[in-house]
Amino acid sequence: APAPSPGLVGRLFGTAPAAPPEEPRRALDDAMLEELEDMLVQADLGVDTALRVTANIAEGRMGRRVSSTELRQLLAGEIARIMAPVARPLPIYPKKPQVVLVVGVNGAGKTTTIGKLASQFRAAGKSVMIAAGDTFRAAAVEQLQIWGQRAGVPVMVAAQGSDPASLAFDAMTRAEAEGADLLMIDTAGRLQNRADLMEELAKIVRVIRKKDPTAPHNTLLVLDATTGQNALNQVETFRQLADVSGLVMTKLDGTARGGVLVALADRFGLPIHAIGVGEQIDDLDAFDANDFARALVG
Ligand code: GDP
Repeated sequence: APAPSPGLVGRLFGTAPAAPPEEPRRALDDAMLEELEDMLVQADLGVDTALRVTANIAEGRMGRRVSSTELRQLLAGEIARIMAPVARPLPIYPKKPQVVLVVGVNGAGKTTTIGKLASQFRAAGKSVMIAAGDTFRAAAVEQLQIWGQRAGVPVMVAAQGSDPASLAFDAMTRAEAEGADLLMIDTAGRLQNRADLMEELAKIVRVIRKKDPTAPHNTLLVLDATTGQNALNQVETFRQLADVSGLVMTKLDGTARGGVLVALADRFGLPIHAIGVGEQIDDLDAFDANDFARALVG
């Protein structure tokens, strides 16, 4: 069988014997810090965050001989410290319906995440409605209807190519009439024409606010962990298009460890409301800073 992967920190120490009587130690010197920094950059933390994390680890410890376990703990601690403030579940507003706008590029996992969230809120006893706001993609609407069925919540759809804002308005009207707790609105994710998408999202928001000036109460940006550093650009872009209030990162069940979340937390400080860990309805977890840091460090 192949040897298990030594993980982020293990690689700094070379291959350890099968059952070492004592862990190998390495002096925390410039060479070691540089290697650590490179590894953090490779793990998608980005140069700025990698430098900051490395500097914090170095502080007061230069020249000290550390074992891989110690360094692993130091690193996980540093990362958890950055992540702790952003690990926050989706805030629940007393307002009915609470309106959650969901944005993100096509394929990021918006539809899937909406289905999973709907199921969780249903399980918590909330009445939920979904609006299929990406009216141009028939496949997206179909997928959302399938997720609605799985979660047991109604999905409002409109004729293909019709105005998403008008659908959003109708959905607000129905959600109000039926006393729904939560209305989740899916949106288009075509970044090819940014100005177009910006106007589309702005119009949805304008129309929703005619019904409730405090809405949308959350604007969730869904990001795909497998896109790595690209997630930074997506946050930059979508913050210009919409008033992004929080993030969900999907596909953390694969090989991607989501190191870019550290860079995101460091740069934007946006709350991370949940993480996608699979394609099934229950595969949406709360984001836990310590679990995440430990998994990332390996
Ligand atoms: P949308 O275009 O943003 O609505 O993206 P979808 O929700 O349709 O998801 C795109 C693909 O990613 C689908 O094949 C989903 O099954 C898959 N997907 C979404 N979230 C996850 C996740 O957390 N883990 C895995 N492995 N796949 C996911």
